[in-house]
Amino acid sequence: MADLIEKIKDSGLTGRGGAGFPTGKKWEAVKSTPGKKKFVIANGSEGEPAVGKDGWLLENYPEEIIAGIRLALETFKAQKAFIYLNKNYFEKYSENLKKIIRELPIEIFREPGGYLCGEETTLIESLENKRLEPRNKPPYPTEAGLENCPTLVNNLETFYAVAQIAKGEYKQERLYTISGDVSHPGVFELPENWPIEKILHKTLNWPIEDFFVQVGGGASGVILTMEELENKVTGSGAIVVYDRKKTDPGTLMKKWLDFYFQENCGKCVPCREGVYRLRELLKQEEINWELVKEVCLVLREASFCPLGKSVAAPLESLIMKVIKR
Ligand code: SF4
Repeated sequence: MADLIEKIKDSGLTGRGGAGFPTGKKWEAVKSTPGKKKFVIANGSEGEPAVGKDGWLLENYPEEIIAGIRLALETFKAQKAFIYLNKNYFEKYSENLKKIIRELPIEIFREPGGYLCGEETTLIESLENKRLEPRNKPPYPTEAGLENCPTLVNNLETFYAVAQIAKGEYKQERLYTISGDVSHPGVFELPENWPIEKILHKTLNWPIEDFFVQVGGGASGVILTMEELENKVTGSGAIVVYDRKKTDPGTLMKKWLDFYFQENCGKCVPCREGVYRLRELLKQEEINWELVKEVCLVLREASFCPLGKSVAAPLESLIMKVIKR
């Protein structure tokens, strides 16, 4: 099985949950860290707006997901694995998953909270029945995760890719969720190095009107203009297309901030206060854009966890490229 880790490293696979950490390196860390017990967690929290690839996998390829988890259990001689699903996915897919799992030591766990549960340390806290907030890192879960034991946390799509690597069938592809002002929204499996422009053309989703896109996720994703579509897709693989004529930037910013206002845990001041202040600032008749940018900077630099850090990117890019302030 050590051989599998080499194959994963050679494939260049990076985690599909958003952070893009090299998967082989993570597996190697769990493998090499001593521990009486080890755990495997398949993260199907998928709480970000406009991302639907894990649901698509659960619908179409549940056997591949379980095959990837099984490989991890065997590689680490792990005690147990968990499939961590949001409420909707749990209700829709857990019965079918149980039929595939059979006697394997895999438990399906229903996420108790919202978006933040997708963050790996919050996810572990929730499995331990603790308050839903992130832990300090380091130590990373690969060293001290569930029950303080070495724990592998990978996204469902990552396990799906590992199963393909083990069979020698991995084609350097990833899943893209396309939505917004397009003709053919959906989830598409295409090469991971394709530029956004090519993906939109190939899926017959190139818009007729003047547009911009949000790439990565429907809340945390960065805004790109039509001139920037030679870039690759980052984050969780979402592409949201916005028709410029139909989209009010103010309404869009409000939508993102309402989401972060609802989903932040309140643990740290920069995020808790920063999101609140941004919502207040954007309600003003005369918006102080310099102050908005300063609050974004504080959120990005001083927030405790990735949720707070991710508030700034969509706002700053929209302000700079669409509102042009
Ligand atoms: S950044 Fe936001 S979500 Fe993360 S710990 Fe701070 S308040 Fe909680």
